[in-house]
Amino acid sequence: MAEQCKDPRCPTHGGLKVRGRIMQAHVVSAKERKSAIVEIPRVHKVHKYERFEKRHSRIHVHVPECISVKEGDLVEIGECHKLSKTKAHVVIKKI
Ligand SMILES: [Zn+2]
Repeated sequence: MAEQCKDPRCPTHGGLKVRGRIMQAHVVSAKERKSAIVEIPRVHKVHKYERFEKRHSRIHVHVPECISVKEGDLVEIGECHKLSKTKAHVVIKKI
C-alpha cells in the first residue's frame, strides 16, 4: 500500500502485539472510523433436543489506518491487549 500507516495500534506497522485466538468474522457495522463491530458465528448445542443452534457473538474491534472495512466484509481478527473499554481485538486483514 502506497499510503503510509502511522497507526501505533496497527499489528503490521505499529507496535501492537496480537496474541491469543485468531478468528474470522463478518463486519456488521463500520460507522466509526477506527473501529467496527463484527459477528463471530458459533454453534451451541441444545441438549434437550440434541440439535445445534446457531448463535453469534458481537464484538468491537479496532481497525488500523491501513485497512478499510465496510459492512459485509469478511475479516481476520486477532486478540490483543485491551484497547479501550469495549475493544480488545484488532483487524489483521481482509479476506
Ligand atoms: Zn498499518
